[in-house]
Amino acid sequence: MAQFAVIGLGSFGATVATELIGLHHDVIGIDSNKKYVESISEQLTHAVIADATDEHVLQELNIQNCDAAVVAIGEDIEASILCVLHLKNMGLKKIWVKAKSKAHHMILTHLGVTKIIHPEEDMGVRVAQSLSYPMVSRYMVLDDDHYIVKVQLKEAQNGMRFHQLMDQNEVRTLLHKRGPEILFSIDPNMILQTNDILVVEGLLEPLRRLAKHFKTE
Ligand code: ATP
Repeated sequence: MAQFAVIGLGSFGATVATELIGLHHDVIGIDSNKKYVESISEQLTHAVIADATDEHVLQELNIQNCDAAVVAIGEDIEASILCVLHLKNMGLKKIWVKAKSKAHHMILTHLGVTKIIHPEEDMGVRVAQSLSYPMVSRYMVLDDDHYIVKVQLKEAQNGMRFHQLMDQNEVRTLLHKRGPEILFSIDPNMILQTNDILVVEGLLEPLRRLAKHFKTE
């Protein structure tokens, strides 16, 4: 179990904080807005109404002892940067920061934070990908052109044999899941069913060709 500080409890910060709690970590949440703190206080280990641009406040809350801090202050770039500077001064090694603009990103790069997050852009890319390939429920980019993709089968694939779907495709199936059962080695003659899940790995072009099999929906 690790200890995290989430600074700024708007919709992004609150989601990060509650997800970390769900993963059984300790989370101290800080926001200058009483309303946000009160709405989440019961779910977090500790929730505090405080101005995160005040270094003394951060020290009093022992933020320096956290394993990592997420700075999720969005609109007020000055407050975000001041808070990051204090966290760095306090010796915190892992600082993840939500950036709102190019200028904000550039300054954070110079400050040497661990990770800069652009939730809206990241979500935009994911929404575009899902619209483009509706059968892809999750994907992970290995490098520019190489992906691991989770595909949920639809009615149109029901009754197809595994090899009919996968043959002549230079993608590798890492696993097949049906209900609770997971198979890592798949019989080419296995008959697929609606809602089966396949996790496949490959380059973008072969994955695109595979996606055409799903275009009937
Ligand atoms: P989101 O998209 O996550 O809802 P946002 O990007 O629109 O948020 P803001 O709403 O500006 O960003 O900021 C997120 C939170 O940070 C708000 O709840 C705000 O009250 C809080 N916040 C802003 N400045 C400070 C500060 N100096 N100290 C603590 N919290 C702050």
